[in-house]
Amino acid sequence: MGRITRIAAAILLSCWSLASQQQAVDLIWSARYVVTEDPQRRVIEDGAIAIRGDSIIEVGPVEEIQRKYSARNLMDQPNAILSPGLINTHTHAAMSLFRGIADDLKLQDWLEKFIFPAEAKNVDRDFVRWGTRLGLLEMALSGTTTFADMYYFEETVAEETKQAGMRGMLGQTVIGFPAPDYKTPEAALVGAEKYLKTYANDPLIVPAVAPHAIYTTSDDTLQAARTLADRYGKPLIIHLAETKTEFDEALQKRKKTPVAALSDLGVLQGWTLAAHAVWLAPADFGLLKAAGTGIAHCPSSNMMLASGVAPILKMLQAGIPVGLGTDGVAGSNNDHDLMEEMDLAAKLQKVTAGDPSALTASQAFDMATILGAQALGMSKMIGSLESGKRADIISIRLDVPNATPMYGVYSQLVYSLKAADVGDVMVNGRFVVRSRRMLTIDDKAVMAKAEEYRAKVSKSLSGN
Ligand SMILES: [Zn+2]
Repeated sequence: MGRITRIAAAILLSCWSLASQQQAVDLIWSARYVVTEDPQRRVIEDGAIAIRGDSIIEVGPVEEIQRKYSARNLMDQPNAILSPGLINTHTHAAMSLFRGIADDLKLQDWLEKFIFPAEAKNVDRDFVRWGTRLGLLEMALSGTTTFADMYYFEETVAEETKQAGMRGMLGQTVIGFPAPDYKTPEAALVGAEKYLKTYANDPLIVPAVAPHAIYTTSDDTLQAARTLADRYGKPLIIHLAETKTEFDEALQKRKKTPVAALSDLGVLQGWTLAAHAVWLAPADFGLLKAAGTGIAHCPSSNMMLASGVAPILKMLQAGIPVGLGTDGVAGSNNDHDLMEEMDLAAKLQKVTAGDPSALTASQAFDMATILGAQALGMSKMIGSLESGKRADIISIRLDVPNATPMYGVYSQLVYSLKAADVGDVMVNGRFVVRSRRMLTIDDKAVMAKAEEYRAKVSKSLSGN
């Protein structure tokens, strides 16, 4: 063999061995920054993510990932941040069709004069189907990949969520008065059990039981909901300590706080996600921590309904996982924009504490990602970009005036970037949004249908 031939053979051999050492993946997705939210909170400049099937295989500097993996597809976004998909820990997605139906009202007037009558006259399975589609569309386009929901006809919410390729922890409501889907709490519990069985092992849906609150659901029903959730190893979702009225009534009638009441009933003990936790007594922090309860903090809703300011800093100090939620959009927000909730969560704590260092940008971003996943009890699967986790990833563009120039990634994510800057959204390894177009929902059909519903809902309330 001549020298040239020998060199050529050596090159071929080394190429072959390099290629054979490379692992095959479906996609290498690279960008200017990869914000991992891993335990070290790595932010990788010129980073990349190797993705195979529904999972993240590895996250690291782009040269390293390209050396180790060969991909069928390469996607490079030099003007974007890759981030874990955002997690909305409290919604009533189907209520999107009631968006802005009645604003600027006291909670009791809002509920009794508008929400309950509007629900009684309009909410059926079709309403929930179209409302959920609208909610999913808005959430996906603003970077949310997982949401925790509680409403009626929840198996329809689950169907639509799965169909759209989104991830949900979805709770069937159980409430102490006749609801649009079930006329009694007993019937709701039977329906919830059937739903838990249907979605027992789904890659995208975690089915849950959702007793509405301690003031709308009897103690027996609350306990039955806990037992049912535990029997299937699924979570319980509830509204808890949202208003001063709820807090004062519990003290008056039960001689204990709402948190203590739930704890004494045994309802907190187990996999639980509680929304709000605005009104807490000092002893409640220990109860929530001991029970491992996850909290959904909804700053827009708490401000708009003047519910109060949740003691987020104290909860975080106590080691209670707190995520962010939008709540419903019918006069208690009125949108599903988690980018905005991050910004508001930080600023609400600062103005309340009189301390601009309270709740930093990186803490607020944690709440929208990894802490939200912990609040849901799903942090082994989602909430950060780490090998072995599901590929729930979003890209956020940086080539916009409101993100230029950039000195700090977390500052930009929380205080400057907007929902409209979200570009691409992947859930479970599959793109549901590309370049701001939803791939799995017909946006025009959904918005046209929403207008039809507006006319119908307005008519149904005009007799009031
Ligand atoms: Zn709510």
